[in-house]
Amino acid sequence: MRGRGIPRRWVREEIPAPAGRGDHPAGVEFTMPYDDTATSADDERFMRAALDEAGAALDAGDVPVGAVVVYRNAIIGRGHNQRELLNDPTAHAEMPALTAAAGHLRSWRLVDCTLYVTLEPCVMCAGAVVNARLARLVYGAADPKAGACGSLFDITRDLRLNHQVPVTAGVLADDCARLLQAFFQDQRRRGKK
Ligand SMILES: [Zn+2]
Repeated sequence: MRGRGIPRRWVREEIPAPAGRGDHPAGVEFTMPYDDTATSADDERFMRAALDEAGAALDAGDVPVGAVVVYRNAIIGRGHNQRELLNDPTAHAEMPALTAAAGHLRSWRLVDCTLYVTLEPCVMCAGAVVNARLARLVYGAADPKAGACGSLFDITRDLRLNHQVPVTAGVLADDCARLLQAFFQDQRRRGKK
């Protein structure tokens, strides 16, 4: 049976702390201007890393969505959808990536971080993005049925919340969508819903 023996919580990856981690403003409330120096080439590079993560979800039979969190031009958190593997409705790609990044920085405030995810975040994950005070969100394919960052809802830019997150949409969108389409076509061929 899939998932047996796997801890209920997703596995947190251990990444060595970078030099200068002490500079991170853990415990300090302030507004950090988001890093707008990332070029589109950087965005594509990190989206490809998120696509690699999506491939790992695919290998495990999960909907192929992947995410990485980037801090100072380095990946400090990775995640892929593990909903089926862990039988956990909260195990969307973004969640383990954010958890790993927060563990890496030893702070739940990810004020200098950018999240790259292959599919537009849902309501739950958009909420996590706001709660993490992320500097920026970059996603690939839009999700007209459940997307909460501009499609169905716009949680990340809702001025009623105490934090807004700039969003860049459509980075490598075709690659991200193609992976999902292939997965669902395969599911239909196998007679699954
Ligand atoms: Zn989600």
